[in-house]
Amino acid sequence: MLYVDGKWVEEGQAAVHPEDRGYNFGDGIYEVVRIYKGRMYQWDAHLTRLFRSAREIKLELPWSLESLTDLAQELMAKNNITDQDDATLYLQISRGAAPRVHDIPSAITPVIMAFVRPKARPVDDLKKGWTASLVEDIRWLRCDIKTLNLLGAVLVKQYAKDKGAQDSILHRDGIITECSSSNLFAVKDGALYTHPADHLILHGITRQVVIDLAQANGIAVHEKPFDIAFLKQADELFLTSTTAEIMPLISVDGEAVGNGQPGSVTSRLQALFEQHIHDSVLV
Ligand code: PMP
Repeated sequence: MLYVDGKWVEEGQAAVHPEDRGYNFGDGIYEVVRIYKGRMYQWDAHLTRLFRSAREIKLELPWSLESLTDLAQELMAKNNITDQDDATLYLQISRGAAPRVHDIPSAITPVIMAFVRPKARPVDDLKKGWTASLVEDIRWLRCDIKTLNLLGAVLVKQYAKDKGAQDSILHRDGIITECSSSNLFAVKDGALYTHPADHLILHGITRQVVIDLAQANGIAVHEKPFDIAFLKQADELFLTSTTAEIMPLISVDGEAVGNGQPGSVTSRLQALFEQHIHDSVLV
C-alpha cells in the first residue's frame, strides 16, 4: 500500500494531477531512508534534511515531525515490514497542483507520497566494489537541495553506464564533486578527502556518518576540494549513500585504483559502519 496525498491506496491505483508541479517541473523534494531489520536508520537526519530542502525551495510543510514519523511506521506496518526485513522508504513532497506558471502560486497545498520496498543490502558488491567513469558534472548549482529535479543525475549515470562503468564520478571544471547519487571519498596516505558540504554536493547522511566514524577512530578527514590529478593517484576510492553504504571503487575509466581491489582503509570503515548499524538499529 502507498500513501498518496492523505489516502492509502493500492499499488497501481495512485493518480497524479496533470498540473502537479512535481510532475511538471520537478518542483518538490524527497528522501530515501534505509530500513534495517524493520527499523529506520538515521530517520532524524533525514527529517532534518527534508525540512532544510523545503526551506531552501520556499515550501512550507504542513506536517509535524511526529506525523511524518507516524506515517513511516504505519507504512511499514501496512506493508508487513517485520524485524526480519531490510527495505527502503521513499518519501516525496511536491509543491502541489495549480495552473501551470513558473512562479510559485500563492494558494497551493503540498502533496505527499510515500512507499516502502523490500531491498536487500548490496553485500556482494560491498566486497567486490564498483567500476567508475569520470563524467562532467552537468547539474545545477544547488546540489545541496534534495530536489525531485533529477535529470542531471539521470544523464550522468547513463553516460557512465554507456561507457561500461557502474557509476559516474563527477567533476566540475576538473574539481571532483560527488557521484551520480552518492558522495565520493578518496584515501591518500591513510587520510580521507571529500568535497566540502557546500552548494555543489548533496550533504549525504552516510557521508556524515563516515566522517564521524573516521574521526572517532583516528582516521584524519579533509573536507576540501581536490582535482582529477589527485583522484588519479589516490590509494583508494569509495562512494557513500543510503543504499550503496560504503562502496569501494576499484577502477576509473578502466584504470585500476590502487591494486584494483577494495583497499584496507575502505574495508576498515565498512567494518566500523557495520558495527554502527548494529548499534543504532539492531539493539
Ligand atoms: N549525493 C547525491 C547526488 C545523492 O543523490 C545521494 C543519495 N540520494 C547522496 C549523495 C548520498 O546521500 P545519503 O547518504 O544521504 O543517501
